[in-house]
Amino acid sequence: MSKPRRQEQEEASEEITEVAKDILRMQLPIMLPGLGHVNMYALVDDDGAAVIDPGLPGESTWNAITDRLKQAGLEPRHIHTVFITHSHPDHFGGAVRIHKESGARIVAHRAFHFGGPAGGHKRHGTGGEHDGHAHGHGDGDHHVEASVDDLVAHMELLERDRRRAQNPLWRIRSALKRMTTPAPWRGRGETASFREGFRFLAYATFGRSRFVPPVTHHVEHGDVLRLAGREWFVQHTPGHTADHICLHDPDTGAFLSGDHVLPSITPHIGGVSYLADPLKSFFYSLDRVGEIQGVELALPAHGHPFDDLAGRAQAIKEHHHERLDEIRGIAREIGRADVNSFMKRLFRERSWGEMAESETYAHLEHMRLEGMAEAHRDDKGRLVYDI
Ligand SMILES: [Zn+2]
Ligand SMILES: [Zn+2]
Repeated sequence: MSKPRRQEQEEASEEITEVAKDILRMQLPIMLPGLGHVNMYALVDDDGAAVIDPGLPGESTWNAITDRLKQAGLEPRHIHTVFITHSHPDHFGGAVRIHKESGARIVAHRAFHFGGPAGGHKRHGTGGEHDGHAHGHGDGDHHVEASVDDLVAHMELLERDRRRAQNPLWRIRSALKRMTTPAPWRGRGETASFREGFRFLAYATFGRSRFVPPVTHHVEHGDVLRLAGREWFVQHTPGHTADHICLHDPDTGAFLSGDHVLPSITPHIGGVSYLADPLKSFFYSLDRVGEIQGVELALPAHGHPFDDLAGRAQAIKEHHHERLDEIRGIAREIGRADVNSFMKRLFRERSWGEMAESETYAHLEHMRLEGMAEAHRDDKGRLVYDI
């Protein structure tokens, strides 16, 4: 493929830049599909600094963090706040170590949630212990109206999971369950690979506390934080994850967009989520962000700062509408088909896999919930869609 390199793929520059008054862009190395760096922004004030999204866990991130801070005349102990835009490891991984070194408060959305119980997604209507009820897809009780309110409805379940997750035995039990529970679109017996299962188990047993930061300060939409000597509004933007938040400073027009709006790639929208219809929530959140007046500068978690936040949000929305059209076209050709078959037509071969399947599933489920598609289980228990 001779596609131009995307800015989000660029390797992390060691240079720090002041992108707005008292806001420093510091790039940390990551190696994830399609991404070469994550932007940690340092918001500097008289008490030290707040950092946004301090990268992956591990030594190389830590070295980069200390190096970049040093260039700004700062040390880890000067960090008083870590702000996490959402529950992906490239955004929260450095937070545990920072918290340990400086005692910084850790700020995230109140739905902040990483990993979790088997089947802890919307298909089954419970946050935890479903029992293969996935085969009942298409029953009336699954046709929930999708909205951001779904998140509120799941809050209790998240709370319960959080409490249960304190218990190591429960964590191991849920990891074992996860190993034997197929993705919602798969058939009976199509479970995660042994390697993947082992990873979950190892993580549930001893990895979690070293890896997932303790959130000391939960926020929600409309909350105000004082950072870099000015006031920032928390904007809840579910879609990419249910717990995604952005920060907006109306005075200077700066907007920290996290992964919600990226300059030249579209964020992954997975279908397995606490949200009933992640794509619909994402559209909703793109519209909300597009309506904000006076945004002068968007500061994304990957790629360079950009100015037309509303335009970019609209373009991302259009991209997904084009994907929905593509799915309609594929359905005309191949008829009733499972998620994997749609995925193989929708994505280039090098992208095939669980993530592409999950994004395809998000689109198909959006169509189903909007009444544009029907879903059934075939004789193998696999979800198949009629469009
Ligand atoms: Zn992300
Ligand atoms: Zn990211």
